[in-house]
Amino acid sequence: MSKKHDGVWGACLKVIKDNISLQAFKTWFEPIVPVKLEDSVLTIQVPSHFFYEWLEENYIVLLKKVIQKELGPEGRLEYSIIMENNTTKSTPYTVKLPALNSKSLKNSPVSMPLNVNESQIRNPFIIPGLKKVNVDSNLNPSYSFDNFVEGDCNRLARASGYAVANKPGGTAFNPLLIYGGVGLGKTHLAHAIGISIKDQFPNKTVLYVGSEKFAHQFIDAIKNQTTNDFIHFYQMIDVLIIDDVQFFSGKEKTQDVFFHVFNHLHQNGKQIILTSDKPPVEMQGMEQRLLSRFKWGLSADLGAPDLETRMAILEKKMYGNGIELPKDVTEYLAYSINTNVREMEGALNTLLAQASLNKKAITLELAKQMVDKFVKNTAREVSIEYIQKVVCDYFDLPLEILKSKTRKREVVQARQISMYFSKKMTKSSLANIGAHCGGKDHATVLHACRTVTNLSETDKQFRAYLEDLEKKLTIQ
Ligand code: ADP
Ligand code: MG
Repeated sequence: MSKKHDGVWGACLKVIKDNISLQAFKTWFEPIVPVKLEDSVLTIQVPSHFFYEWLEENYIVLLKKVIQKELGPEGRLEYSIIMENNTTKSTPYTVKLPALNSKSLKNSPVSMPLNVNESQIRNPFIIPGLKKVNVDSNLNPSYSFDNFVEGDCNRLARASGYAVANKPGGTAFNPLLIYGGVGLGKTHLAHAIGISIKDQFPNKTVLYVGSEKFAHQFIDAIKNQTTNDFIHFYQMIDVLIIDDVQFFSGKEKTQDVFFHVFNHLHQNGKQIILTSDKPPVEMQGMEQRLLSRFKWGLSADLGAPDLETRMAILEKKMYGNGIELPKDVTEYLAYSINTNVREMEGALNTLLAQASLNKKAITLELAKQMVDKFVKNTAREVSIEYIQKVVCDYFDLPLEILKSKTRKREVVQARQISMYFSKKMTKSSLANIGAHCGGKDHATVLHACRTVTNLSETDKQFRAYLEDLEKKLTIQ
């Protein structure tokens, strides 16, 4: 049985690729898996409900065209969505859409378990006049979408945040939970959503609050016997952003009150945005009923940014402040601080302060000293990326060539030297080092290290190269 659906979908992809940006294609179309083709109905599997909505919102016209081009006017598309955030149901389930040419597509009742809007519970305590109260949103204007650099590490989180911002309370991403490690942009993104909602919907009451502050307000309310006011205040918010909800862990009373606020807002179609340093499954000390609600919407993670994204963030930051740094300095910062954006920004600020206090020019040398002295918790070891960069610069070779298959002598040598230093100066495994050099296996890396050691013992010139490079790579 030849896989007909593969062929049809392959043909569709070709046309789609020509019509949208490569970035968009990679993000939204590469993850799709064609599943079957029956009676002119092509079923494609998408990784999440979010994906499905995004495709519907943004690519429906294009999809319709290509499907009908391939399958004729009868051509239809069905989505099979893999359930996410739900440990009990792991089997894919199918959303049947009437047809691509149906006008009612947008309104078609897709029975998602995520929709919980049936029971509108009116709170008898809400005083109508209270709605007019002007709530200070606590949003930091510099944490905007414009200032948030997009990269592979944050694409899904950013896109879902963007979708929520354009339709607060009106998507299936409610709550939207953004999670990720320290300093990776959770707070920034949460603000960006709030700012964008305020811009687009000035009548909506948006509130950003740290979970610590929420908890303290609640304790004060208990003390002052104003818990009702506390609850009412939160229940009238249209868009509630709570940062670092992991802080609620182990605080039963706070979780309890938050649970009620959450339910009220959710039932009334209000948007809830949460951030956390871990995904719901790993949150200890959190009540199950709250955790299950966190999983109702979408959990999107923020990963550590790759090198290009880190450079782009630094450049954006400098541009915003009207500063210019030598390129090698920016590169060095981005290379050597690779897990935490806040730390990288901190390094940049410290460097600028150092330079202006001591009236020194900002040089690579100064940057190295500064990173070494002032950046806390930064792994001292240089990265493989940095080693490769230094080696390539030294031999005046383009960086990409290390990852190519070229067997040219000078390239092989540079590649082997990079492997040698990677082995010597980082804790990376041989396999990982190989992967960084164009997918070589561990035996190749081992061989490279031996070759370099042997050569350094017999070839004076070669040894001099190594010594130069070692100096360049050592952070004093
Ligand atoms: P978190 O809340 O995850 O600990 P923050 O949102 O406070 O992290 O981010 C730390 C710093 O890094 C902030 O100054 C933020 O502006 C910056 N930052 C993080 N990610 C990005 C990004 N993608 N683009 C621009 N700046 C970023
Ligand atoms: Mg934060």
